[in-house]
Amino acid sequence: MPELPNTRDRSPHAFRETLNQSRLWVSHRSRHVPSCGWSDYDGPIAPDWHRMADEKGFRIVGRIRDRFHLTLECRACGAHTAVKLFALRDSRPRCGGCAAIKRQNAADGAKLVFLRRDPQHHKYGVFRAPCGHDVRRQFGFVEKVRKGEADVKCRVCLIETEKAEALAQGWERVGPDPDGKANYRLYRHRCGHHQRVARVNMRNGQCDCAACGESWSSKPSVIYLARIQLSSANLDVVKLGYSANPKRRFRHQLGLSKLAKVTFLRLLPMPTGHDACAAEKQANASLVRDFPDGVVPIATYSAHINVVSEIYRPALIREITTLMDQIKARLVAADTTR
Ligand SMILES: [Zn+2]
Ligand SMILES: [Zn+2]
Ligand SMILES: [Zn+2]
Repeated sequence: MPELPNTRDRSPHAFRETLNQSRLWVSHRSRHVPSCGWSDYDGPIAPDWHRMADEKGFRIVGRIRDRFHLTLECRACGAHTAVKLFALRDSRPRCGGCAAIKRQNAADGAKLVFLRRDPQHHKYGVFRAPCGHDVRRQFGFVEKVRKGEADVKCRVCLIETEKAEALAQGWERVGPDPDGKANYRLYRHRCGHHQRVARVNMRNGQCDCAACGESWSSKPSVIYLARIQLSSANLDVVKLGYSANPKRRFRHQLGLSKLAKVTFLRLLPMPTGHDACAAEKQANASLVRDFPDGVVPIATYSAHINVVSEIYRPALIREITTLMDQIKARLVAADTTR
């Protein structure tokens, strides 16, 4: 699929498809015919044709272009569509006006602005996405977006997000995976080495450079205790976790809505990601074992927080803080005995 130019336009232009019902709609197979080719054609209209048109929801306006074509008026929307005589006889003619209204409604429902049809392919149109970029999508796909079954996923924005994710980890996003795996990308480490990495691992900062040996597990990390409140969902929980950069990455890693209120109750710096991972796992295991009633069932938060465990009721804050004190005490002890 050709990339569309990286244009961003937030102007409130109404590029609505002309739903002006005085225009003549023609099928995509006839779009090569210039408009002067659609002039009235002299000839009788058989009574049979009137009957067929009526049965199929149309009225015959007249004959057009040549002896094979008729102009039909749609009884539902009033639009005029040029159709072949055999189409009236053998099938249900498609009203161009009704189709345009359906396309417009799909675009509106999908929060897209329909800009134009793709002259190369009748099933595709070009739309302006809410982010301001133009995307080329199938009309059928837009209908799915309207129904909530698909996501528009602007490629330009997706690439920008992936670039920022990589940069935050000391890598640069070079391009798609040369081996063609959809969930991998090609990245360049700050040492210059190129490497394929799964996008999710890059996002979470979990990738080691095979050339210089810089490893995420040897970089400093932070164990955090965060309170997440989402009043619209009546959700008030805490999470104990670790991250190289919780303040910057938390919302993104957990897929939190902008409406969610996040408060870091405690941040405990750890010398390495490996230490943080081990201590956090141990703490979470002991919380689940000792305070099963304080563990929030996944069904309560799965629609709002993109994790499968380590979510507790705020009543456990004191116990969790005590565990964090113990982790810190062990760190200090290890440091003094070194
Ligand atoms: Zn119609
Ligand atoms: Zn975009
Ligand atoms: Zn490297």
